[in-house]
Amino acid sequence: MAAGPKIRLVIDPGHGGEDPGAVDAATGLREADVTLRIAHVLKAILDTHPEFEAALTREADRTVTLQERTDIANARDAHLVSIHCNAAGDPQARGAEVWCFAETDPDGGESAGHRIARAIQERLVALGLHDRGVKVIYDRGSREYVARRLWVLWKTRRPSVLVECAFISNPEEARLLGDDLGGFKERLAVAIFEGLSASLLGEREPQPA
Ligand SMILES: [Zn+2]
Repeated sequence: MAAGPKIRLVIDPGHGGEDPGAVDAATGLREADVTLRIAHVLKAILDTHPEFEAALTREADRTVTLQERTDIANARDAHLVSIHCNAAGDPQARGAEVWCFAETDPDGGESAGHRIARAIQERLVALGLHDRGVKVIYDRGSREYVARRLWVLWKTRRPSVLVECAFISNPEEARLLGDDLGGFKERLAVAIFEGLSASLLGEREPQPA
């Protein structure tokens, strides 16, 4: 099989070090630890697929600024896949959502970032997570930001996504995320991998010789 150029990905476990991210008050479960585990598993899966070349923004529990995270992705000319868990004041809030920059490209077609986000969201929902949909921070029609300017989507040159896997503030989802033997974090990593494969490999069909 002819090998094309590798698809470069930088996997970004959200938070870390001084910043634990969302913390489940009942159990002390920290978003920074959950995202690191998912990211390590995702990286290990990607490393067994020669079509991809993957790196992490952090390998351990350490502080990395948002600027450093996007710098790593941009220096590698890579897509950034930032991994987070959600949190809300309402403990009933639950489910998965994936963020990208905008739904469309300047030409009006669906953006690559939106395709990647949609493919990942589909697989997360297939795990049984409530579907909160694909979300965007910028609307090309009105040329306005429609949500908080998430740095990792705003400052990356390649189409990038931010995955909110589930809610650490929801007792049931926190239980799943915190259970190291239950395999849920590993299933999330597989779902994200499948979404990346479907959206990124589908775009590079082999050229006729
Ligand atoms: Zn987060």
